[in-house]
Amino acid sequence: MSFRCQKCNEVQVDGTKETKVVTEVRKVIYPTVKDSYGKYRTPEGFETVKELTVCPECATHKFTTTIVDLKVIEGEVE
Ligand SMILES: [Zn+2]
Repeated sequence: MSFRCQKCNEVQVDGTKETKVVTEVRKVIYPTVKDSYGKYRTPEGFETVKELTVCPECATHKFTTTIVDLKVIEGEVE
């Protein structure tokens, strides 16, 4: 299936491998948990906000990933 590269805007020929590049993420802070040692820790992670589908040529370029949002998931600490 062909696709259009979202960086150079070229329509790619059938069979071209598409690469997903994450350009925007949201930082997620999860509820604080108590680990097996009895220590409290607050896990953090990232969720994809925006990703581009690019051709192999563009995939070799350097992309910057921007943190655009912060989500705090509330929870009870046991
Ligand atoms: Zn491209």
